[in-house]
Amino acid sequence: MMQFLDDFRNGDLVRKVIARIQKTVTQNWVIMEICGGQTHALMQYGLDQILPPEIELVHGPGCPVCVTSLELIDKAHAIASQPGVIFTTFGDMLRVPGSQMDLYAIRARGGDVRIVYSPLDAVRIAQQNPDREVVFFAIGFETTAPANVMSVLQAQALKLTNYSVLVSQVRVPPAIRSILGAPGNRVRGFLAAGHVCAVMGYWEYLPIAAEFKTPIVVTGFEPLDLVQGILLTAQQLEHRQHEVQNAYRRTVTQEGNQTAQEMIERVYQPCDRKWRGIGTIPMSGWRLREEFEQFNAEQRFHTEHIQTHESEICIAGKILQGLHKPPDCPAFGKECTPQYPLGATMVSSEGACAAYYRYWKQDDENG
Ligand code: SF4
Repeated sequence: MMQFLDDFRNGDLVRKVIARIQKTVTQNWVIMEICGGQTHALMQYGLDQILPPEIELVHGPGCPVCVTSLELIDKAHAIASQPGVIFTTFGDMLRVPGSQMDLYAIRARGGDVRIVYSPLDAVRIAQQNPDREVVFFAIGFETTAPANVMSVLQAQALKLTNYSVLVSQVRVPPAIRSILGAPGNRVRGFLAAGHVCAVMGYWEYLPIAAEFKTPIVVTGFEPLDLVQGILLTAQQLEHRQHEVQNAYRRTVTQEGNQTAQEMIERVYQPCDRKWRGIGTIPMSGWRLREEFEQFNAEQRFHTEHIQTHESEICIAGKILQGLHKPPDCPAFGKECTPQYPLGATMVSSEGACAAYYRYWKQDDENG
């Protein structure tokens, strides 16, 4: 029975599991870790370098900052530039490049852009500034949805008329479905993200695994969690199985957090959502239900006439679909660095390009 974080980072245990993966695999398999947090952990601990060569890991689209569409980033910039607005956001979003600039540039020009650690902080700012419009940039996957909808419910309970949310909420299962159904897909198994499943459970993954005959294993973020997830995926692939397995039982159940799901359902409804660099994925997002439309920043600020311009060099969309890796990009580490990012995947603490920039050594790829 493992109790402490150190147990999940124990090098001897990790090497034992890697040895079992080595014994298990008889052919090449491409496995995608969905979440940017998993990507960073894999790179940080060098796990990708000590796996048997038969296992190729590709990095999925589970970085909320990276997949927020350029249109919404530009809308955020248009709203944040308006006088009288206090624009609140998580810190990662400040350096994400839009078509023209980023939120730091807007702040430098006098815009009131504030970093918050929770949308409830934004509600408090709205209470404290009744003569100002306060907007929260509600980005994220299923993990951020409960707090985001809670802020709307709280603003409603407080009868705030100066609080609104710019919603860019995305969901993992439709993204997995889109990757598996894309022409040229090479992914044969998935490591699903434990924190997403802690909220939503993994019941939504069961029909996807069955339909696409693809194993999906829910993992945590520690080295032992990840290699165990890879072992279970490899075992299924070798035995031609396609189950959903839970390798993160200390946190995840099949049903997930029912209270959080009910709260999300009350405020949000599913919608098509555009993912940056990927395009529109049907029913892959949430938006506010009609009865909460007064909290919709897009309606309040009339931002329909946005003209976007994406960097022509950036291949982040292909990286997020597992078709390329960051070093394949000609700008990686040259024109594009965390200090001067061309794409969102180089900005975010969960972005694949940022993970490679921080942890990857060129010699690693060359053996
Ligand atoms: S290195 Fe920069 S330009 Fe290249 S894909 Fe990553 S974010 Fe885009």
